[in-house]
Amino acid sequence: MQIVVLAGGTGGARFLRGVRSAAPGAEITAVVNTGDDVTLHGLRICPDLDTVMYTLGGGIDEERGWGRAGESWTVKEELAAYGADPDWFGLGDRDLATHLIRTRMLDAGFPLSQVTAALADRWQPGVTLLPMSDQRVETHVVVTDPGTGRQRAIHFQEWWVRHRAALDPAAFVQIGVEAARPAPGVLEAFAAADAVLLAPSNPVVSIGTVLGVPGLREALLSSPARVVGVSPVVGGGVLRGMADRCLPALGVEVSAEGVGRHYGSRTDGGLLDAWLVAPGDAADVPGVDVRQVPLLMSSAEATTALAQAALDAAGFRAAGV
Ligand code: GDP
Ligand code: CA
Repeated sequence: MQIVVLAGGTGGARFLRGVRSAAPGAEITAVVNTGDDVTLHGLRICPDLDTVMYTLGGGIDEERGWGRAGESWTVKEELAAYGADPDWFGLGDRDLATHLIRTRMLDAGFPLSQVTAALADRWQPGVTLLPMSDQRVETHVVVTDPGTGRQRAIHFQEWWVRHRAALDPAAFVQIGVEAARPAPGVLEAFAAADAVLLAPSNPVVSIGTVLGVPGLREALLSSPARVVGVSPVVGGGVLRGMADRCLPALGVEVSAEGVGRHYGSRTDGGLLDAWLVAPGDAADVPGVDVRQVPLLMSSAEATTALAQAALDAAGFRAAGV
């Protein structure tokens, strides 16, 4: 049995942990957003891939939801002492080893998908970890510069980490997306899938970015599997992150219904066969099987139950269950 999950960072990683325990024995492929990737201090950093890898591999800082457990920040402090820019991005000492290896392998000519597989060899995440694409695609945010009053595009990380999403986004653009192709294994995974799940990740800068890779959306739509989405919006708000700052830029209401309608029904050119919303978040999404289930991934048990509900909605039964 094969399950494909589209994922961003924290929401995607937690959901994947639930899918892994809800479907033991299934082959799970995570197609992960790389639009957040950035080069800092000469190092290639892939925040969402690393969040998924560390979370599933048991190395995540559970409290923060990103970066390594037991992290120290000596290198970051030393860089700051030199006044080295940028000083706003959290690069931990343990985490740096991952970026050093990744950068070295990329510089040697290995594609990101192979680099990711090599890094995952240490972490044994129990799922196949695929970047959405081997080509560089970087999300930029069009904002109005408070100094000049003029519009300019800044890297997503600068918008989110440096400015804490305080600048109103006018648009999100994927630099480099025209030349991107789905990474090796992505199209095959959709074609062979028994269930396709959209994690409760950011609909704009995680799921939206993955679906922006030319050919990927079409592959998802022609998958024989049912496509089930999980709402990242509960009770009209997001649980963490900045999806509530992103959705209005696309004219999408910050509600389970708004996101469900944005994804749309597969019967109507959209993505979804089923859409999971929280109890109390009544959502009318024409053509979609909307189900109310607890959506809070607050414990391992709750997360597994959520993943099971998603697999149920996909008509998927794990072997032996
Ligand atoms: P990022 O790349 O780290 O921003 O993470 P993702 O894009 O994967 O996920 C961010 C989204 O996860 C946010 O929009 C949150 O609302 C959502 N999220 C976080 N925790 C939960 C949870 O427990 N349940 C649900 N349904 N969504 C969650
Ligand atoms: Ca992310």
